[in-house]
Amino acid sequence: MTVYSPSQLEDALNILRDPGFVVIAGGTDYFPSLKMGGSQDNILNVMKLPEMNTITFEEGGFRIGGAVSWTQIIKSDLPAAFDALKAAGQEVGSIQIQNAGTIAGNLCNASPAADGVPPLLALEAEIELQSAKRGKRQIPLVKFLNGIRNTDRQKDELVTSIFVPHPPKGMKSVFTKLGSRSYLVISICMTAISILLNGSGRIIDIRIAVGACSPVAQRLKTLEREMIGCRPNEVAICERHLLSLTPISDVRGSAVFRQEAVAEQIVRSLSRAVL
Ligand SMILES: Cc1cc2nc3c(=O)[nH]c(=O)nc-3n(C[C@H](O)[C@H](O)[C@H](O)COP(=O)(O)OP(=O)(O)OC[C@H]3O[C@@H](n4cnc5c(N)ncnc54)[C@H](O)[C@@H]3O)c2cc1C
Repeated sequence: MTVYSPSQLEDALNILRDPGFVVIAGGTDYFPSLKMGGSQDNILNVMKLPEMNTITFEEGGFRIGGAVSWTQIIKSDLPAAFDALKAAGQEVGSIQIQNAGTIAGNLCNASPAADGVPPLLALEAEIELQSAKRGKRQIPLVKFLNGIRNTDRQKDELVTSIFVPHPPKGMKSVFTKLGSRSYLVISICMTAISILLNGSGRIIDIRIAVGACSPVAQRLKTLEREMIGCRPNEVAICERHLLSLTPISDVRGSAVFRQEAVAEQIVRSLSRAVL
């Protein structure tokens, strides 16, 4: 097994021309997935690439590098619209996992229970990918995530950054995770809400994203549409708002429980968001 930790992006992209290499960042998903066996892969470690280690402010929005850790996000000076993303970070494993694990790794691993996905859907994030052969492309997160452990990333591509368009001024956000205990737990369900109210307390922009209740986390567009112009507590959440969700029953909870928990989670998140 060969491990490369280049300090130049160009070198990293060239290494990925060889299909025998896998990318790792914090390794907190990759290494546990190997279970008892050692790795057969050659490894490209992206953590020494300075271009991918920063959070920058651009004309159109914020760019979070593809090697930025959860701890960097949590400690960053981002606006209130990012509070849900920071809160999700604080729920990822333990402090040690947050120090090592990256936000890009969380997305590339494409678990239905990845805590980073709902807040980033609510922020309408886009994923920047680069390869030596085809250069740069940027796609919405909804198009990047194709299914369980399945993304649009090609084997020779790196996720170089996550781009978040400037959220509307005054937008707030809340993340709520339900697990069987408080820490080090896989989500039973989770909700991220970004909300903007006008001066009389009516909703002018809302994004509601739910995770761990379908193969890929998703926005509840019907509910969002109905809430525009209303006060946050005016719309009763009912079955038809949750029709797109396909929760499973497993050791953590039944499908019915997940469906009911999500409805309650949304109500509670809305109350917290407008405090
Ligand atoms: C004890 C423990 C608790 C955990 N708890 C949680 C939790 O509560 N919530 C949660 O969501 N997750 C949790 N995780 C999972 C994991 O920590 C997170 O998903 C983390 O964000 C993964 O980031 P990483 O940098 O370690 O990814 P890695 O393991 O390095 O990589 C994960 C995948 O992404 C790919 N990849 C990584 N970076 C790039 C890149 N820049 N470009 C292209 N491909 C890339 C890798 O090839 C790999 O397939 C936990 C893990 C452990 C071990």
